Amino acid sequence: MSKVGRLPDRLAQLMHAKTGPLTQELVRQPGGFGLGQVPTRLTPDATTTAVCGFCSTGCGLEIHLRNGEAINLSPARDYPVNRGTACPKGWEALTPLSAPDRATRPLVRNAGGKLVPASWDEAVGAMVSRFKKIGETHGPQSVAFLGTGQMPSEELAFLGALAKFGMGMQHGDGNTRQCMATAVVAYKQAFGFDAPPYSYADFEESDALVFVGSNLCIAHPIMWERVCKNQRKPEIVVIDPRKTETAVAATQHLALRPKSDLRLFYGIANALITRGWIDRGFIERHTSGFEAFAAAVEPYTLAATAEATGLPAAEIERLVTTIHERERVSFWWTMGVNQSHEGVRLAQAIVAIALMTGNIGRPGTGANSITGQCNAMGSRLFSNTTNLLGGHDFTRPEHREKVAGVLGIDEGRIPREGSWAYDQIMEGILAGKIRGLWIVATNTAHSWINQADAHEVLGRLDTLVVQDMYASTETVAHAHIVLPAAGWGEKEGTFINSERRFGLLKKVARAPGESLADFYIFRLIAEAWGCGDMFARWKTPEEVFAILKDLTRGQPCDVTGITDYGMIEDRRGIQWPLRAGEDVVPASERRLFEDGRFFHEDGRARFIYEAPRAVPEPTDARYPFALLTGRGSSSQWHTQTRTAKSAMLRKLYPSQPYVEINPGDARTLGLTPNEWIVVESRRGAMRARAHPTYVVQPGQLFIPMHYVDTNLLTLAIFDPYSRQPAYKHCAVRVRRDSDAPA
Ligand code: SF4
Repeated sequence: MSKVGRLPDRLAQLMHAKTGPLTQELVRQPGGFGLGQVPTRLTPDATTTAVCGFCSTGCGLEIHLRNGEAINLSPARDYPVNRGTACPKGWEALTPLSAPDRATRPLVRNAGGKLVPASWDEAVGAMVSRFKKIGETHGPQSVAFLGTGQMPSEELAFLGALAKFGMGMQHGDGNTRQCMATAVVAYKQAFGFDAPPYSYADFEESDALVFVGSNLCIAHPIMWERVCKNQRKPEIVVIDPRKTETAVAATQHLALRPKSDLRLFYGIANALITRGWIDRGFIERHTSGFEAFAAAVEPYTLAATAEATGLPAAEIERLVTTIHERERVSFWWTMGVNQSHEGVRLAQAIVAIALMTGNIGRPGTGANSITGQCNAMGSRLFSNTTNLLGGHDFTRPEHREKVAGVLGIDEGRIPREGSWAYDQIMEGILAGKIRGLWIVATNTAHSWINQADAHEVLGRLDTLVVQDMYASTETVAHAHIVLPAAGWGEKEGTFINSERRFGLLKKVARAPGESLADFYIFRLIAEAWGCGDMFARWKTPEEVFAILKDLTRGQPCDVTGITDYGMIEDRRGIQWPLRAGEDVVPASERRLFEDGRFFHEDGRARFIYEAPRAVPEPTDARYPFALLTGRGSSSQWHTQTRTAKSAMLRKLYPSQPYVEINPGDARTLGLTPNEWIVVESRRGAMRARAHPTYVVQPGQLFIPMHYVDTNLLTLAIFDPYSRQPAYKHCAVRVRRDSDAPA
């Protein structure tokens, strides 16, 4: 182990070691810690396009510059994703950068328990020496990391490679576990690779769009605009217990009983099979496991399905008929499916219906998981957590050998199995197996399920390092060391959106104070840890992109045909795959599986079935309401560390927590609109204003996930295959706040 170097000296060396105009420009900047903080590639007064850094839609935003820095933005009219539109978050994307609570200096908690400013040398030195000490005492697996789908792929790869290959950690995960793990596992098992098959053109080319657990209107409003551009007079079907904005706009709304969706899809499958409304030719040529699946769903008759879901049989029948009669049917899902105790099997039931009806690989079709975060897809491919870099497998020797070869490292440094999942890391902390944690750009203390537990878990760590844009998050409150990071707009890299499109983010603003792009923080830590040589080629995001490209060679996500960032810019984003030699992109929007070949070795997609499980926490006499959670509005993003910084966005949603309750239930309880009530689960309680509305059915409540107390209520249950938390359902009760004990 090499000793911790003098970081300012090393920083200067790093800066001078770089060549080319970017480095020269950086080195010339005043302020010493300017690495990665100034606009690059840009003429002083110009407009450049960068993809948005909130959701997975990946809208192109034109950033307008004066003296080389962003002064405002507008949606890019020629970007194929959004074509001149943006949601409120996109319009306000620059505002959170100038928030007063930005983390501007490293902080280290002193003997008195207070976080006090420190130099980079002191903060990184403290992190390294503490983590090394923990590792020496308890083993390298006693330190772990948590990353985020909000960082560009180059930074995600750097974090994962540094932590595992350089620092010797075994376990790391990210907040992608909270949104996309279910879709990942469902696709891998069914298609042979984590491969969302669609392009956004499919929104416009469908004859019927079936949205499952997706409130597209507000969660992905620009995708919804693509639906609205559909000229084929489509049936729009929403399967959701709530009468959401999307359900109101739909032609069919199946307001099923919460968590009865797997039974519904088995019932739909059985109805299609018994009527012969399936594509036998496609099934025989391109799939396996159909007969066993068909036998398994046989008991799900129309009557049994109506009984299980609480839906009128006629509504189910109408949907079955729609799927049969419409030529192009697409199925779309988001968190209502992914965040479920049986989400993987539910997603695979959706896949099964698309397969058996031949609704895949053609325009306007597909079993299409819509991603959450701006770079959840990049996290899935490049975070080096569950998967080895580039969608490889830690357990396969040939994959380890390939990755070691591309990176020029000893294969022995690559772990032979994937990481513990997020919940296992949290359990590991409780069990004393993990004692050091490095959290990068995610707000665990707010977003983790069953939040009271999360606070207790984080409080048990010997050392918690938090790397974030803001010094004010709930997670920073537990930190021993805080590393101030640049945010979107202050650094470069690539995101991959929901339709597999690589897009560029740009450096159009200076990061405040001494904060650094995560990419350069990783370089500092690598140097301090003594593994800087391993990352000698990882000098800039674009150089890392070239490495990532090499890693994808021969994979379904092969992008060896992308030459550089300039090509991504010129093509207005590029979807994977694009193999070397295929660098003439036939169309801006492409879908997978047009040849009917899937990624399993036999080229076939698989039907997968499992008997539905009981709801983990059913309602009862003490806790009679089913609590549903989800996005509140288009103006809010997750734990609101960024969106709450915009006065304009704050005006677009209620400032105080609210709970939707059916007016009949409100009357029964004697509640008046807007009065404060208390919602309690077996784990905790929160205050919220009563909002009587027919959006929710009797016996159900809905609270947006953005409020800090929402996860005091949620139940820590996980899908057994994806280990994704089941945020969407638990049992609660309500009472008037005036009844609360003093
Ligand atoms: S829809 Fe998503 S990507 Fe587009 S502007 Fe809004 S937050 Fe950004």
